[in-house]
Amino acid sequence: MKKLVMASNNLGKLREISHLLEPLGIEVLPQSAFNVAEVDEPHCTFVENALAKARHASKWTRLFSLADDSGICVKALNGKPGVLSARYTGEPRSDERNNQKLVDMLRSQADRRAYYYCVIVLVRHAEDPQPIICDGTWQGELLLEPRGGGGFGYDPLFFLPDLGKTAAELPFAQKNRASHRGKALTRLIERIREEEF
Ligand code: IMP
Repeated sequence: MKKLVMASNNLGKLREISHLLEPLGIEVLPQSAFNVAEVDEPHCTFVENALAKARHASKWTRLFSLADDSGICVKALNGKPGVLSARYTGEPRSDERNNQKLVDMLRSQADRRAYYYCVIVLVRHAEDPQPIICDGTWQGELLLEPRGGGGFGYDPLFFLPDLGKTAAELPFAQKNRASHRGKALTRLIERIREEEF
């Protein structure tokens, strides 16, 4: 089985990504298994932040490395919180405080459309000049009251009108298929198959 390091310690993401890559014979290990410290995410684009994380983890482990950067972008807030989604209320990070802040920002807005965005990058080594870059979006709208106990982050507020459910009310496998990360990963899997590594 090929080992790949995931440049994140987010167990929710690790679970989703491992589940999808395991059938390809790829074992995904968290960077914490190699004592890789988290890097800053100073950039204003998702892709630059993902590349910084992937290159850092690959440098320290000498393994192929996978990183994602994702967030929720709200139309009425000009795309915010966007790249700052995890740190919307600063450090220490708290999903509960982030969700409360988003609800407060949205109370006076009639337009509550939002989408999740995910970019996922794979580098073969720290200076890989041709990283594989795949992305995906997931459109929905935000509720002012949380619903559901699954998922993580903003999922209890992220409502899917077609399904009549929030992302936190979807079964794990259904969310994996439909989500921004699921779409980006499906594209990544196609690329991995093409490259046969
Ligand atoms: P990252 O770890 O820098 O990519 O931060 C992503 C942040 O965006 C998370 O901490 C969540 O706040 C939010 N986010 C991204 N994807 C999801 C998702 O699938 N569900 C819920 N929140 C998400």
